[in-house]
Amino acid sequence: KQLIATLNQQMLAPINPKKGKQHYQPTEQEIYQGLKNGEFVPYFQPHLDTKTDKITGAEALVRWHHPTQGVLSPYYFLDTLMKMGFSSILTEVIIKQSILACRSWHQSGFNFHISVNVSQSDLDKQDFADNLLRLLHKYGLQSKYLTLEITETELSSNIGKLLNTVSRLRLNDIKISIDDFGTGHSSLKQLIDTPFSELKIDQSFTKNMLTSSKHMAAVKFSLMLAKQLGLKSVAEGVETIEQKKLLKELGCDILQGYLISKPLAETDFIKLFKNDTTEPLLHH
Ligand code: C2E
Ligand code: MG
Ligand code: MG
Ligand code: MG
Repeated sequence: KQLIATLNQQMLAPINPKKGKQHYQPTEQEIYQGLKNGEFVPYFQPHLDTKTDKITGAEALVRWHHPTQGVLSPYYFLDTLMKMGFSSILTEVIIKQSILACRSWHQSGFNFHISVNVSQSDLDKQDFADNLLRLLHKYGLQSKYLTLEITETELSSNIGKLLNTVSRLRLNDIKISIDDFGTGHSSLKQLIDTPFSELKIDQSFTKNMLTSSKHMAAVKFSLMLAKQLGLKSVAEGVETIEQKKLLKELGCDILQGYLISKPLAETDFIKLFKNDTTEPLLHH
């Protein structure tokens, strides 16, 4: 099955929406079948530690190994899937595979962290924390290696509810990251009151920081805020050496972006870190 997946992936070129290729709109039925058939898998994009210049973990990003369309990014299906009410199923599928992958890296001597994207509706589920802890226990990964990313735009206005779940997860050593920071509307009060662990600077700021003083100000402000609040800082969308150099100088803890690597199928991610020269690896 793994072999077939790999072959499919090599034979069918991924479709990049930004290059103006034909837009593919899957039907709900296809998405349903895809979930049933295990066609949704995590790809892994490395996290680079600026202090050591080494890979210390990865973010899991869902890809759909579609039977006829090749490897599809969330752009093609995430909105529809969410509207179908399948968010929690996708989360479970991706978290399960990510935990298993991370544990196998640990077994080969690489104690990486893994970050998984979740949505607010997942966190709102009464039994979310318990189910997650059960999974971690079942597959033998310590909670401290798992980070859940939630986008700032999705952060609940129901602060009490969010605080409950985040606190419960934190008590069990699971970390919560605010994704796409700067694009939503979290309040300073919320940042102070909720025990977040990490702040991810949105790629729009990283991208423009060297050409726009306002974006630079936003990056500096975010990094300062993260530091002062005791949050780990991650910059997304790092594409150039200049951005890398500057972010390191500004004290950003972790870098993520095409400069280090695109999101990779697990086998390619393993190849990358096993001979971690952290040279740009640009294939998909
Ligand atoms: P995100 O969590 O903010 O992930 C970062 C996105 O930026 C990813 O897009 C990644 O491939 C892309 N990216 C990384 N480095 C660079 C770079 O240097 N330049 C540019 N231009 N882009 C870069 P992707 O994989 O298409 O995912 C899009 C969004 O879909 C994610 O944004 C996340 O919000 C959501 N998503 C992805 N996987 C999952 C999942 O398993 N569950 C849920 N609920 N959402 C997911
Ligand atoms: Mg993310
Ligand atoms: Mg992001
Ligand atoms: Mg995003």
